[in-house]
Amino acid sequence: MKYLCNLKSLDFLTHHYFLIPNIFCLSLNPTKTHDKMLYHSPPVQTTESTEPTSTAFSMLFQSCRDYNHLTQIHAKVLVSGFQGNMFMLNKIVALYITFSDLQLAHLVFSGVRRPTCFMWNVMIRGYATGGQFVESIQLYCKMLEMGFSPDKFTFPFILKSSAGLSDLERGKVIHGHVIRYGVHNDRFVDAALVDMYAKCGSICIARLVFDKMEERDLVSWTAMISGYAQNGCDTETLEFFSLMQREGVQPNRVGFLSVLLVCGHLGALKKGELFHGFIIQTGFESDVSITTALIDMYGKCGSMDMAGLLFHQTGERDVVLWSAIIACHGMHGHGREAISLYDEMIKTGMKPNEVTFTCILSACSHSGLLERGRTYFESMIKDYGIKPNMNHYTCMVDLLGRTGLLFEAENLIKTMPYEPDASVWGALLSGCRIHGNMHLGERVAEKLLELDPSHAGYYVLLSNLYAARSRWRDVDRVRRLMLRRGVKKPQGFSLFELDNYVYMFGVEDRTNPQSEKVYALLESLASRMRELGYVPLIEFALHDVEEETKEASLVYHSERLAIAFALLNTRLGATIRITKNLRICGDCHSATKFISKIVEREIIVRDMNRFHHFKHGECSCGDYW
Ligand code: ZN
Ligand code: ZN
Repeated sequence: MKYLCNLKSLDFLTHHYFLIPNIFCLSLNPTKTHDKMLYHSPPVQTTESTEPTSTAFSMLFQSCRDYNHLTQIHAKVLVSGFQGNMFMLNKIVALYITFSDLQLAHLVFSGVRRPTCFMWNVMIRGYATGGQFVESIQLYCKMLEMGFSPDKFTFPFILKSSAGLSDLERGKVIHGHVIRYGVHNDRFVDAALVDMYAKCGSICIARLVFDKMEERDLVSWTAMISGYAQNGCDTETLEFFSLMQREGVQPNRVGFLSVLLVCGHLGALKKGELFHGFIIQTGFESDVSITTALIDMYGKCGSMDMAGLLFHQTGERDVVLWSAIIACHGMHGHGREAISLYDEMIKTGMKPNEVTFTCILSACSHSGLLERGRTYFESMIKDYGIKPNMNHYTCMVDLLGRTGLLFEAENLIKTMPYEPDASVWGALLSGCRIHGNMHLGERVAEKLLELDPSHAGYYVLLSNLYAARSRWRDVDRVRRLMLRRGVKKPQGFSLFELDNYVYMFGVEDRTNPQSEKVYALLESLASRMRELGYVPLIEFALHDVEEETKEASLVYHSERLAIAFALLNTRLGATIRITKNLRICGDCHSATKFISKIVEREIIVRDMNRFHHFKHGECSCGDYW
């Protein structure tokens, strides 16, 4: 922790007045006009006769309206002989915290030999809400060391700090303190515990605490809902949201942000639309972060029309909103639209940030816009002084690799000012796979398997690379390596939303009541596809992410089951939207093109990387994905 000076004795209080000019000369916060206050504000009255009383000070504190006013009152306190008055000191510390001058608050605080519990709490709260979590925890430890007992006002903020640091172990210790000091039935403390456990990824303990709470309010409900959303528990998030509504608790902004995130994740457009309606009813639609979340949700659910409409209707556009709409166009492969939006944004005078550049570079990559990508990468450094981060390098390597400039991509990696991580090398390996560069691919894959030996995707990519060259012995070697290291392939699944329900399909799934019809439809589609020239790509059946046994399983990859189910349950001509958790395999990609032609439907598949719009036998990705 940074202390300005270590004045702890009472001497400090007597000399405080003389210290004031020095404090201000330090110019702790350049935005605050200390000098102006000192030299241009009305002179502080020092004569006994006009000295305000403590009652007058109470009124002064109550009327304190801004930072300058506070510093004037503070000076007045010092010259009026009240510098040792705990009531005044409490007020002064609290007000410096209110006006976000943590350093001056701390300076006053550290001059008090025995601060009150209130003062400790105010300081801990100040650090926690200012994002200085380490300092807040250090202060808490010092408070205990000095023999003070924390109370129900201390714990919410100290738990907030543990959550901010994602420090579960410390959080558990503090939970112990909560029980020891007997404040475990306080609703604010309990809500903070729920929030801490959820943010530290321990959602089950969060739930245990939540279930034991006697009184649940909006704060604790929201902590649980956002905790579920952030921990990828989609179903629980939606369930808890409706449970909260049934309990008569009105959702807040964070609650809405959580459910929109989940709808986008699931590709649940209808549900997302329902929430949109609810947001309008409750008056949250004017909140720019909600609009951004709505745009993101519509984009991820494949409804670019709505995303665009919302964007154009919004008057107040911040950089996050602009980045969101650029990202939406990017993942749909609308590179040109993303670029024209970026240009429009610059024209309005808005400054792009790191995230904006990730979005625009990724858009260029998904659409193969090499020169534009290079220009943005350079402009980011030269015009905006932004140092490229790992995401920017990953996008650039992906773009270069996709367009076949594999060695340039490798050189870019070599010039990186820090160690490239697995995502950067993974992007290069994808390029090697697309362009069949065995030599480089092998080297990159070896590196990746060293960096992240538990990531199944890299084994699969390497195995695919060997399979494409019919190097079956190597394919086998990779598989055995995977087995030896205990690496499991992630289970592939696809989602389809129908009548407010999201149906999930696994590989060769037969749990759906309509399974028989689904499989029969796939059989008949397969024979029509063959007539039109479809040839199954067997290597994907043998070696791609999901399946490894037999040719027949190609037909039953999860996205095909979902497509057949959708065809059976939607009206003729309706667009079909499927969400898949992994990358779509080459064979399913080819088959879906044929299916879109046979059934004359648009089929939109969102896979792990991007959107594929299948129409009239073609895909929007141009076979690069
Ligand atoms: Zn497949
Ligand atoms: Zn595609």
